[in-house]
Amino acid sequence: MKRRIASHYALIDERLERNIIVDVDNDGTISHIHRSENIDREASVEFYPGILIPGMVNAHCHLELSYLRGAIAEGGGYATFASEIGRVRGGFSNEERLRAASIADAMMWEEGVEAVADIANDDLVMPIKERSRIQYKTMFEFFGLNNHDTAPLENLASQYKDASATPHSTYSVQDREFKAICSKYRELLSLHFLESENEALLYENRGSLHDWYQRMGWACDFLEYGSPARRVSECVPSEGHILLVHNTCATASDVTSIEHMLKGHTTWVLCPESNRYISNLCPPVGLLEQMRVSIAIGTDSLASARRLSMVDNMRLLGNVPLERLLSYATINGAKALGIEATKGSIEIGKRPGLVIIEGVDFATMTLTDESRSYRLL
Ligand SMILES: [Zn+2]
Repeated sequence: MKRRIASHYALIDERLERNIIVDVDNDGTISHIHRSENIDREASVEFYPGILIPGMVNAHCHLELSYLRGAIAEGGGYATFASEIGRVRGGFSNEERLRAASIADAMMWEEGVEAVADIANDDLVMPIKERSRIQYKTMFEFFGLNNHDTAPLENLASQYKDASATPHSTYSVQDREFKAICSKYRELLSLHFLESENEALLYENRGSLHDWYQRMGWACDFLEYGSPARRVSECVPSEGHILLVHNTCATASDVTSIEHMLKGHTTWVLCPESNRYISNLCPPVGLLEQMRVSIAIGTDSLASARRLSMVDNMRLLGNVPLERLLSYATINGAKALGIEATKGSIEIGKRPGLVIIEGVDFATMTLTDESRSYRLL
């Protein structure tokens, strides 16, 4: 049975349009997109108040950390967050971890998430992701300045479909391993990037990250790149795609140098709820918008977010036109993950999932505190 679905607005070609009816086949494939002045009088149309969008793409998550929901206090700053996560991590059983991941996966599906770029340290929750109706791309992250053996992580990645490896960041992996992983898994990489100012200060031999490494007696062999942005533009192959996650402290010159080398191969992933939770920082969405780069949205993990909600994250980005926010959350993420042939937009022949966002202020076309999303199919 074909379904005919309409809403106040629909996101079509990155624009919010009125008077749209979307026909969907049994298997979720979009068969027709009609325009009609009389949506409410058309036969057998299901009308939902709100905005009709395709299933969303969460471009940065750590599903396996779902058990840490509420375990770390808000607003302590990045260094405190990193040490707290190390402290509380051991206090949970595998059953608790699996249960929390399973609930988080189900909630993301209900809220309308279709695909996730997920970072992992081990494979405990892989069975949940393999069974999920959400499409996961798992990237096992490599880190540790004293870790020179990439083989265990590569073995882990090779055991699963849709899994690969990625360096954790530009401050936690030495040069040879960074280049080796970026080269081998170039198709899709994901780096935590410029989440705090100390990542850039490290390259100037100052700041709290530098001081901590000094105290521990850990040397970095990559500081001659001069900055995290230079390291990315010189070490990441330009044939693949990279997700740069957070970017809270990214400057115009950082963005320029990376886009110069990797234009069309970079997606700037913003996780404003996580930034708010950890450090009360905001990502520079105005700057990135002005520089016309590709932006996507990630929820990060429940260790640093009250909920894994794409709508919460869109709302936190503030003063950005709604159709841009919706494009970040859908087609931009789908392109970043290389799944735009079937996901990310309402187009004939695609099977993107369909989602309603309700509680939108149509007078100002903005999200409100009441805005939420739910899945139609
Ligand atoms: Zn993360």
